[in-house]
Amino acid sequence: MISVRDLSYAFKIGKKEKENVIPVLHHVDLHVAEGEIVAIIGRSGSGKSTLLNLISGYIKSQTGDIVINGKQVSKLSESKWAEFRLEHLGFIFQSFQLIPSMTAYENVELPLVLKGVSEKDRKDQTLRMLKRVGLDQYQSHYPGELSGGQQQRVSIARALILNPPLILADEPTGSLDSENERELLNFIKELNEKDGITFLIITHDHEVASIAHRKVEIRDGYLREGSMLYEVQR
Ligand code: ADP
Ligand code: MG
Repeated sequence: MISVRDLSYAFKIGKKEKENVIPVLHHVDLHVAEGEIVAIIGRSGSGKSTLLNLISGYIKSQTGDIVINGKQVSKLSESKWAEFRLEHLGFIFQSFQLIPSMTAYENVELPLVLKGVSEKDRKDQTLRMLKRVGLDQYQSHYPGELSGGQQQRVSIARALILNPPLILADEPTGSLDSENERELLNFIKELNEKDGITFLIITHDHEVASIAHRKVEIRDGYLREGSMLYEVQR
């Protein structure tokens, strides 16, 4: 599902003469099979979010090679990336990244609008998805009128609405209390087991890592398949 080979990345800040180069990732190799839940763990600042941003095309590297679901994505143009993301990737973030001026319904519907789905189909699918995450009573609420757990469910509904085979999650439980965290983790397991969705989850939380089939550690920008720690029981 994901194949990253020899990927390095450095941020460049400042003007040309005084340019500061901050190396963040070094020759990263990562392979995620279809149907896996893989957790990437590592200290703050170790390069986890940068790796996820590279895998999702929000930042680009001159080096290395990224293949997602059989498609070589490393050299895609911005517009092709936008298309590819809609079709193949769902995202869950610590900060939910909902659009505050849109209702729960409109946030979940948005990917269907971007894809050009007809209004009737959008309505059917959006209502079904809101029901699935237990938010059908809250469809007219704005993000600011929802609890953290409810906002995270809206963001998951949005991530799922186009049936992506792969979901990328950056600290998905970082803003949740322990009850909402447990609920989210159970839902991720269900989506993996029943719907076959592959997950790549960044976390420094051991509860989250405990649902993964495999944990991979990133240390100061170094990550190797060999650094796999242990196989987790389902
Ligand atoms: P993590 O998600 O593991 O906490 P990040 O990938 O966010 O780590 O950051 C890795 C390193 O890259 C850190 O040293 C951070 O300061 C640096 N970094 C992240 N984003 C930028 C940026 N936009 N510009 C410059 N440096 C950055
Ligand atoms: Mg991060």
